[in-house]
Amino acid sequence: MLAGKRAIITGSNSGIGLGVAEELSRAGAEVILNSFTDRAEDHALAADLGKRHGVQARYIAADMSKGADCRALIEKAGGCDILVNNAGIQFVAPVDEFPTEKWDQIIAINLTSAFHTTAAALPAMRAKGWGRVVNIASAHGLTASPFKSAYIAAKHGVVGLSKTVALETAGQGITCNAICPGYVLTPLVEAQIPDQMKVHGMDRETVIREVMLLRQPSRQFATVEQIGGTTVYLCSPAADQVTGTTISVDGGWTAL
Ligand code: NAD
Repeated sequence: MLAGKRAIITGSNSGIGLGVAEELSRAGAEVILNSFTDRAEDHALAADLGKRHGVQARYIAADMSKGADCRALIEKAGGCDILVNNAGIQFVAPVDEFPTEKWDQIIAINLTSAFHTTAAALPAMRAKGWGRVVNIASAHGLTASPFKSAYIAAKHGVVGLSKTVALETAGQGITCNAICPGYVLTPLVEAQIPDQMKVHGMDRETVIREVMLLRQPSRQFATVEQIGGTTVYLCSPAADQVTGTTISVDGGWTAL
């Protein structure tokens, strides 16, 4: 379905980004993986995707905390038809104790990078009359929790940016939307489970149900495959008129 389309996925050497790259390449897209590191294993991830799905796949190192790197990523890739802004980090502290450098870093990586990559990618999309911008926001782009001020401000910003870009590209064959995942079982989340088991004196299943997924009514994690599948849907003809909106993949979290 996506043969002939080139997709850039920021922050895609693990977790959701890698899952999105897997599903886009399975659908036939050329994929560009990215993170700020430049290790042999990063390039090997791209080679493996390309081999398994019979598509072109490359890894391009670029630091999404730096505007020039964001724009250089798009240029080095030779532009893209599908842009998935996924790179993101988290830091937890009360707002009056939140370190300024952490605030700045989160806003830069989780929000400002999407401004730079989108600005750099749009002219070529307009020239072709087709483009898809998919921003990986969060349930925290629609709702809040304590101690995550920078992350929640950035994710609400991503939702606002998505709506604005949708309005500026409407009728041009380009759509821009935000996917809002609830808790997704990525390696990052998996690594928190043993600590939570210790802190709460609970077994794995109980800590997942009663602590981690307390706000997710399904009491089930979303998966990277589901976020990837939602991205593929947004790139399909069925979603041609879906723009400027959010799609929640959160087990009912934001329905509460
Ligand atoms: P992850 O840590 O596995 O992935 C984050 C990715 O971003 C990694 O590939 C990392 O290398 C990359 N990255 C970090 N800093 C970067 C930088 N400066 N430049 C380039 N790349 C950088 O975590 P994840 O859970 O897969 O998160 C991916 C996205 O999904 C994030 O935006 C996150 O906010 C969002 N999200 C995650 C969840 C969840 O429960 N896991 C829920 C909602 C939203």
